[in-house]
Amino acid sequence: MNNNCFKSLIAAFSVIMVMSQSCDKKPSSGDYPIRPVPFTSVKLTDNFWAPRIKKNALVTIPIAFGFCESTGRVKNFEIAGGLDTGKFQTIYPFDDSDVFKIIEGASYSLQTLPDPKLDAYLDSLIWKIGLAQEDDGYLYTNRTISEMHGGKNLHEWANKSRWLNDSISSHELYNLGHLYEAAAAHFEATGKRTLLDIALKSADLVNKDFGPEGLKVYPGHQVIEMGLVKLYRVTGEKKYLDLARFFLDIRGPGGQQYNQAQKKVVDQTEAVGHSVRATYMYSGMADIAAIEKDDAYLNAITKIWEDIVYGKIYLTGGIGATGGNEGFGNPFELPNMSAYCETCASIGDIFFNHRLFLLHGQTKYIDILEKTLYNSMLSGVSLSANRFFYPNPLESNGQHERSAWFGCACCPSNIARFVPAIPGYVYAVTDKELYVNLFISNDAGIMLGGRKVKISQKANFPWEGKVELAIDPESGFKFDLKIRVPGWALNEAVPGGLYKFRDQNSAPLKLLVNGENSEIIMANGYMLISRKWKPGDNVVIDFPMPIREVMADERIKEDIGKIAIQRGPVIYCAEWPDNNTGNILDLLIKKDAKYTTEFVPSLLNGTQIIKTTGFQTKRTLDDKIETLKEENVVLIPYALWNNRGAGQMMVWLPTSTQATHPLPAPTIANRSKVRATRMTKTLFAVNDQIHPLNSNRESVSHYDWWPDKDKWEWVEYDFKKPETISKTKVYWFDDGPDGGCRIPDEWEILYLVGNIWEPVIARTPYKVTKNGCDSLLFKPVNASAVKIKVKLNKEFSSGIYEWVVE
Ligand SMILES: [Zn+2]
Repeated sequence: MNNNCFKSLIAAFSVIMVMSQSCDKKPSSGDYPIRPVPFTSVKLTDNFWAPRIKKNALVTIPIAFGFCESTGRVKNFEIAGGLDTGKFQTIYPFDDSDVFKIIEGASYSLQTLPDPKLDAYLDSLIWKIGLAQEDDGYLYTNRTISEMHGGKNLHEWANKSRWLNDSISSHELYNLGHLYEAAAAHFEATGKRTLLDIALKSADLVNKDFGPEGLKVYPGHQVIEMGLVKLYRVTGEKKYLDLARFFLDIRGPGGQQYNQAQKKVVDQTEAVGHSVRATYMYSGMADIAAIEKDDAYLNAITKIWEDIVYGKIYLTGGIGATGGNEGFGNPFELPNMSAYCETCASIGDIFFNHRLFLLHGQTKYIDILEKTLYNSMLSGVSLSANRFFYPNPLESNGQHERSAWFGCACCPSNIARFVPAIPGYVYAVTDKELYVNLFISNDAGIMLGGRKVKISQKANFPWEGKVELAIDPESGFKFDLKIRVPGWALNEAVPGGLYKFRDQNSAPLKLLVNGENSEIIMANGYMLISRKWKPGDNVVIDFPMPIREVMADERIKEDIGKIAIQRGPVIYCAEWPDNNTGNILDLLIKKDAKYTTEFVPSLLNGTQIIKTTGFQTKRTLDDKIETLKEENVVLIPYALWNNRGAGQMMVWLPTSTQATHPLPAPTIANRSKVRATRMTKTLFAVNDQIHPLNSNRESVSHYDWWPDKDKWEWVEYDFKKPETISKTKVYWFDDGPDGGCRIPDEWEILYLVGNIWEPVIARTPYKVTKNGCDSLLFKPVNASAVKIKVKLNKEFSSGIYEWVVE
């Protein structure tokens, strides 16, 4: 066995996407009918992803370990292991999981970029993790440290007894799921059993404590299911597979929707609740469906996939629209500025779609995977690889900015482990078929039905549609080459039609085999080339990559009267630095706008931009909207926004004036300086002149005092010069019954004369109206400032869409 083959054989024993290997060895029992080609066999040579993977190794992984050290995550293991003394150092009991995830990423990274120092650092970390593991295999630093102090300071999310709170909050099994994934990766990368032995000791304890004869507590945050399947693949021990299935089968009915325990998993048909937990669970279900050929599981995940793709996914591939549950909203509830789209959910959805592809061999799953990869996942990390988004909104007024780290650090650690594994999504095989799923320049060595095939791709993706494949089997033999034809190269913006291209593109696909035009045969979305391949063969495909206008299903209220721009798999946005005034949200694009595209080497490390023209819009004092003179509009790839500082950004571009956010008219409120009891980044909303009665309710920003309740709060306008005022209007924010804000109990207007705040003398009654606007007339006063005082309800907070003073 040569080295390459040996490497892919080892690789096959674990990794995200490794279900079996591309070498000769067959899985002992069932598994996915299609096998991914492990990323260790695919060396990227492109200018888009290869530099990102290198930066992940040089920047993301070191800083992520640095934060694990400086925040006390590593020290928790040292204390629990008796190397140090003290209390639990960090905020959350799931902080152990970040260390495991970054070990997983570092292990992947070592396979492509060997680094003896990093290898030694992993050894030292693993030694500490081993010391922190209790004698019977239990590993959860928070409890172990607490027990060293006589049970003091046990995290409030944990029960006094092991495991009992896991369905609710303790995250004991969540930590372990990430441990198992890391252990499989580390074993694969280094051949060392150190972390694997810790994981197996832990899994044996879990297997003893849970199961038909033991505890029937379902995991509150899924991931252990996928982790156990990886341990099963590494060891061949069926007990780990059975335990994974047990943890799925004991969910529901009657549990929380938030963590997908509202029904038995096989009865679930809709994507609900926390979207990271959900996608991890659906991925675990896909593993069981594949290995055990379970139709009930398959049926459930098929329906759930349709539910996501037909109504709950953003054009960027992001999922999990709402922040309150960090999860799925109702179908078509896809707000842009408040879009949650957690980075981890994008990664989880990639896991899920990849597994569905491995089950079915259909391009629609890779279409979703590719869209997510190039847009909502990639937006999660800065070009410098040291700043991260948790939510990935599709619109910003400047209130969003990537952070170096988070108290809850799931997203950076997920980026750290996902990015090095990207080459593993390019190819897949069966004994007779070679699938080409992604177009990224690379050199790969693939085993196909026991024979070796070298394949290399030359492409300039995602900027150009031409792909050259050099196919070099060690000797001539027959197999099916299946080249994915992306939906965007045909006329499908997204499978299922939630988003559609405005115009049909009739440019034909071109396929050359050894320089000859070749007839295109399609199968399951793939171009199928079935022939006896011999050394030196080549294939050239030219995917048309015109600039496409995209329209959303009209049930997505926020996107009515708007278009988005897509080219190839890349979704574009307008961002403040590229536009003269820095104002983006007030843009209006002409319905028949012309677009051009060019590559700008100096911009954002080199990127393709799109140019068009539009107008700024402005609100007049009588609440009409006027368009200003035409100007150039530059669009950049959405994933690259916020690399030049915070400011306005917009993916869905208005083509009708009703859908715009015009520049405000120079009213008293707008000319004032705004202050409030809570100075948040959404304070701009109170005087932006956009409220539910003149705009789509879904796209109106608000300011609120959540989670405060049962107290007086205020907002104040400080005038530039004294003004005479006699009227006010306020639009209350109320997100009942699900959210935490309701209309307030009462309110009052005060004005400032000299240094004294006086109440106005009202000429009409103070009213509080839900879904409306409350006006108040009062005796005219000449004031230097005006204040609205708001009494929050005993049970609820409150907020304001807009506050007008005249
Ligand atoms: Zn996250």
